[in-house]
Amino acid sequence: MKKLISLIAITLFGLTVWAQDNMLCVGSYWTEDEANIVLKKFASEWNDLESWEQRALRIKKGIIEGMQLYKIPQITGNFNPIIRNTRVMDGYIVENIAIESFPGFFVTGNLYRPVEEKGKYAAILSPHGHMKDKRYTDYIQWRCAALARMGAVVFAYDMVGYAESTQVNHKMPIALLLQTWNSKRVLEYLLSRPDVDSERIGMTGASGGGTQTFVLTAIDDRIKVAAPVVQVSAHFFGGCVCESGMPIHKSTDHQTNNVEIAALCAPRPLLLVSDGADWTRNTPRIEYPYIQKVYALYNAEHKVENVHLPAERHDYGYNKRTTLYNFFDHHLDLNAGKIPYAEGYKEDFVTILPPEDLMVFGKDSPRPKNALQGDDAVMAYLKISVK
Ligand SMILES: [Zn+2]
Repeated sequence: MKKLISLIAITLFGLTVWAQDNMLCVGSYWTEDEANIVLKKFASEWNDLESWEQRALRIKKGIIEGMQLYKIPQITGNFNPIIRNTRVMDGYIVENIAIESFPGFFVTGNLYRPVEEKGKYAAILSPHGHMKDKRYTDYIQWRCAALARMGAVVFAYDMVGYAESTQVNHKMPIALLLQTWNSKRVLEYLLSRPDVDSERIGMTGASGGGTQTFVLTAIDDRIKVAAPVVQVSAHFFGGCVCESGMPIHKSTDHQTNNVEIAALCAPRPLLLVSDGADWTRNTPRIEYPYIQKVYALYNAEHKVENVHLPAERHDYGYNKRTTLYNFFDHHLDLNAGKIPYAEGYKEDFVTILPPEDLMVFGKDSPRPKNALQGDDAVMAYLKISVK
């Protein structure tokens, strides 16, 4: 409650209260009761498109400054992609891939793409969360292969410190910045491919992958459609350094939360998938109505959807994936008819590959010699630190 009082105090005593506060908003920063009241206060800050867009601009600036994104040297091109082990599967292709995010740092992942060679495809960024669905798991493989069979080039990439991203630890101080930068580079790599249609770019992930999805979508208009799964919450800010370890929600003159960050997607199509057993349990009553009001300013109410699964838990399970298939089919102009269907989509055409088949680096294919090694080496290269 102390935090709520401090939030209200800003209207009474000006900015000095904020300057004394710690700027990080971590985990369950507010209770559900507090978040409900705070969201009403946020809603009172805008009443038309102009006042919302002013607020949206401040929130976007807060993200960029809070994670020090502006400090990363401007890098264009030079992805130096390493693509290995291209396999033609049942209606999709899977490849192992690494791209250089900046000289000496590699984003590792898999590229799933359609089999036919025909012009340009939609592209989808697929970050994963802290849940069991790391890049090698069946969840990720089903989803990416299905989207590829539907007609998209899908890049499933590691969170920093997970799977093959062994150059740094996940719990490093600038994980939020590094992951966002990596996502931006994955986006730019996809846009650089001759088989990708820049007007049809989607992004989806669950949990921490949901955080990556709404953060990049908020600051980069090149993401055209977004589906953050089981993560957008009025009271919960993400508990990991890669979600809330840098002050992107609060500064000396502003305060926001992940509901408003997700709303920066407007008027681009946005799907919120929520469940009954985590911090998204209130979505139909709290988070979704707020975001709907933002979309209404653009006369785009039909472009934001909430699918709430009250009997489900915190994952990217079958019902969540198939909800996404229909949403991306519609908004990215895919062909869901290519997925076998009998009272529900059938994903059993997907061959689940073992991790060793999905790794781009190994004994016979080592990481390039210029690879930076360790948190300190990466932070020193970027000349970025946090207090
Ligand atoms: Zn994390």
